[in-house]
Amino acid sequence: MEIFEKIGDAASKTYKFTAEKTSKIAKETKIKMQINEYKSNIKDIYIEIGEYVYQKFLKDEDIDSKDLEQSCEEIKVLSDNIVKCKDEILKLREKRQCKNCYAEIEISANYCPNCGFKQENEEQEENKTENEENN
Ligand SMILES: [Zn+2]
Repeated sequence: MEIFEKIGDAASKTYKFTAEKTSKIAKETKIKMQINEYKSNIKDIYIEIGEYVYQKFLKDEDIDSKDLEQSCEEIKVLSDNIVKCKDEILKLREKRQCKNCYAEIEISANYCPNCGFKQENEEQEENKTENEENN
């Protein structure tokens, strides 16, 4: 009987791993869809601004930047949301972004492989390889 229990155990572990991976991919897809929605909202606001400017041109009126303030604020909020979404995706992938060149790098990297910039590893301190100085 024990062997069946072991097989069952291994199978459930594999299942759990796959399920975890699948749910991460699903989460990432969901966040990407959210980003696309934000982007399309931003485009809509750009169109509104463009229409406002064109109408002013047709009527030979001056553009009042106060009229555009709210639209610009909305774009700013949407842009911030996109940045947050991108951060979430990086976390899901267990990656981080180089603060210097914005390349996607391993979360444990001490230096950016792209530009060589030293990374701040506050959370990673304990993961340092112990054998490093024994060469
Ligand atoms: Zn870099």
